[in-house]
Amino acid sequence: MTTTLNGHLLIGATVQAGASGQFRAVDPSTGREIEPAFGSATLDDVERVCELAEQAFDTYRAVPLEQRAQFLEQIAENILGLGPALIERAMQESGLPQARLEGERGRTVNQLRLFAKVVRDGRWLGTALDAALPERAPPRPDLRLRKIGLGPVVVFGASNFPLAFSVAGGDTASALAAGCPVIVKAHGAHPGTSELVGKAIQAAVASCGLPEGVFSMLHGDGRSIGQALVTHPAVKAVGFTGSRQGGVALVQAAARRPEPIPVYAEMSSINPIFLLPGALAQRAAGIGAGFVDSLTLGSGQFCTNPGLVIALEGEDLDTFIGAASTALQGKVGATMLTPGIHKAFNQGVEKLGKEAGVQLLARGECGTTACAGQPALFATDAATFLANPALEDEIFGAASLLIRCRDLAEFRQIAEHLDGQLTATLFLTEADRAAALDLLPVLERKAGRVLANGFPTGVEVSHAMVHGGPFPATSDSRSTSVGAGAIDRFLRPVSYQDLPSYLLAPELQDDNPLALWRVRDGSLAQH
Ligand code: NAP
Repeated sequence: MTTTLNGHLLIGATVQAGASGQFRAVDPSTGREIEPAFGSATLDDVERVCELAEQAFDTYRAVPLEQRAQFLEQIAENILGLGPALIERAMQESGLPQARLEGERGRTVNQLRLFAKVVRDGRWLGTALDAALPERAPPRPDLRLRKIGLGPVVVFGASNFPLAFSVAGGDTASALAAGCPVIVKAHGAHPGTSELVGKAIQAAVASCGLPEGVFSMLHGDGRSIGQALVTHPAVKAVGFTGSRQGGVALVQAAARRPEPIPVYAEMSSINPIFLLPGALAQRAAGIGAGFVDSLTLGSGQFCTNPGLVIALEGEDLDTFIGAASTALQGKVGATMLTPGIHKAFNQGVEKLGKEAGVQLLARGECGTTACAGQPALFATDAATFLANPALEDEIFGAASLLIRCRDLAEFRQIAEHLDGQLTATLFLTEADRAAALDLLPVLERKAGRVLANGFPTGVEVSHAMVHGGPFPATSDSRSTSVGAGAIDRFLRPVSYQDLPSYLLAPELQDDNPLALWRVRDGSLAQH
């Protein structure tokens, strides 16, 4: 795999210089620009990649499932083939440490392999066959159902996972698995990392004999190039991870189209942690130290970062606060992803500290790099929190707010008051059973994932994972952006009535040549 960067756009099988101005990545540890320059796309480039994707769709979605699965595995191989050059460039562009990025590369590759398995398995096709009943009055026709891809998908790479939620991340892997061509709008914070991974996909498209329009990648401003992609008639769905403002803007742009399309935006979550009294009485100090580790992981730049802690006031809470404050004071703020994210974090912390009824409990040490964060823990009481919506704003980074409650009724009031979340966590023991049973139905309504006695950072890529939740956590709570279920976002069902067998795809044929599990006349069967 080539590891030379030329700063070009990836348009189908070709590389092309972007003609709409140039930019360079910034090393957030120094604040200095890094070579080379990257060219931004023009509206003509948008037209071209959309046209190529549209042309590729019918051919790509018709390739045998085995070939589609091998394509995903080939992308994974090509990414590994980039070797240390990929990790070095990602470190420079994101400020993230080597071990974290190597782990993220493993996650990216495993995600692609998981979707290869999902594709082969074929359950995502949702195949159902209802045999004709000609004798019935009225007669029933022969009906066969399967799911097909929606069409070309635009993916916005996320800043905080330059590999696992970016060019070949979960959105791209699940859309390609669904049979949809993908156009990536690369994130301006890591254009070099994006180019390396984009070329790895481009090479896999070619070596697997697929049409070139299956993948393209553009650099450029979100408000012009990003919006032009989302509003192009050829595009049928969007995957996004980033700010609430950006996600909402894209949802609105997609809804204003003559043909509205779904935008799966993962945006803003503060991930409440409820410390139930039994758990706090048993292990307040241990939970306090564990909480700080979760809060400061990756400089707090996770969508599942624990930004809110709810607990009953009293001695056990004082023990928790003591342990958390001591642990936090020992943490040195790591480099944040971009100067913009660093600035937004500092502004958010300053604003929260000035809100009436909010006290600073502890701060970590400020790191020495240009964009180093300084972790922060604040406290308030339930009445203040319930009265001030600004206290629910996400601060992207290692900052959290502790809410002191007078009784368990306030726990429930806070749970009811919260916006939609990616996660909600309960720390509990057997003694907390009644309180937990009371809270659970509320948390199920509010969050995509409910945890017990663990921290929400760390999202397993598997079949039973949900990384989603009601607004503003995401724009569509019916879906997940992580795990095997992510493929469903890019599919729609088609029913075939009385079609001759030569028009039926293999998964719909009587003799079931792919040996898939299918619903036949209402029962699950493998024939
Ligand atoms: P962002 O500003 O939302 O940008 C993400 C992507 O969307 C970029 O490619 C951006 O293009 C594009 N974009 C933004 N606004 C747009 C608009 N109005 N129309 C079309 N495209 C638009 O996110 P970010 O740069 O990653 O970080 C900024 C903030 O987002 C952070 O401080 C944090 O608050 C939040 N964030 C949250 C999560 C999470 O998981 N919850 C993850 C990352 C970031 P341009 O770069 O050209 O604007």
